[in-house]
Amino acid sequence: MLDYHLHSTYSPDGEMTMDEACNRAIEAGLKEIAITDHMDIDLPDNKAAFQIEDLDQYFNDLISTKNRFQDKLKVKAGIEFGLQDWTLQEASRIINAYSWDFVIASVHLVNGEDPYYRYYFNSRDKIKSYTDYYETILMLLKDYNDFNVLGHLDYLRRYSPYEYSLEDHLIGKEIIEEILIMLVQKGKGLEVNTAGFKHYSGQPHPHPDILKWFRELGGEIITIGSDAHSVNYVGYETARALECLRYAGFSYVTSFTEMKPVFIKI
Ligand SMILES: [Zn+2]
Ligand SMILES: [Zn+2]
Repeated sequence: MLDYHLHSTYSPDGEMTMDEACNRAIEAGLKEIAITDHMDIDLPDNKAAFQIEDLDQYFNDLISTKNRFQDKLKVKAGIEFGLQDWTLQEASRIINAYSWDFVIASVHLVNGEDPYYRYYFNSRDKIKSYTDYYETILMLLKDYNDFNVLGHLDYLRRYSPYEYSLEDHLIGKEIIEEILIMLVQKGKGLEVNTAGFKHYSGQPHPHPDILKWFRELGGEIITIGSDAHSVNYVGYETARALECLRYAGFSYVTSFTEMKPVFIKI
């Protein structure tokens, strides 16, 4: 059992220390975790910084945590990089400056607009709210390679004020497929983000059918992450994520060491 998406107090919205995350993971019976704090640099509109303040300290703390827990839990040095088109070069520089085990590339902003807030949806109907987001992912990842998996692909659902329907994952299907094909061609993976299970749709991010499309298009690299910001959600619904992966045709999940994938049979 693995959890490859966890935020500690190095994230502005993180509520658990690295030690607390590790101790909770052990209690929950996890064998391996990746701590992946937020690095969203150069946010527009003078928004409060949403990033690790001192990367050297963060990385050193990851290594000492890894060493301290080595007999009980595998701890991987990770980061969740929030991409924008004017930060890609700096993202690459930061990723290459440290020996990360695992990097999640996430898209949290659409041309500077944040779907976490209602205003994003006010100027877009339901379809456009999704397709603008997917097109942004496609555009950002086209020339960017310093990552292992794409984070929470359809996470817009978490914040959407539009009523959820069972066909919502079909919105923008062609663009989603382009994203998935691009990931396959680049040798990159997709994350199953179990925070999606908190939503009333009861689906992970992305929807299990999207996982299936990824598999059918040749996708092999898959990580499972809770996106927990507090101890309550470490390892959240991992068993359900495994069910979705079996449904989608996967027989392996992926762990990473120094950004190299290792496949673990499920
Ligand atoms: Zn994220
Ligand atoms: Zn996250």
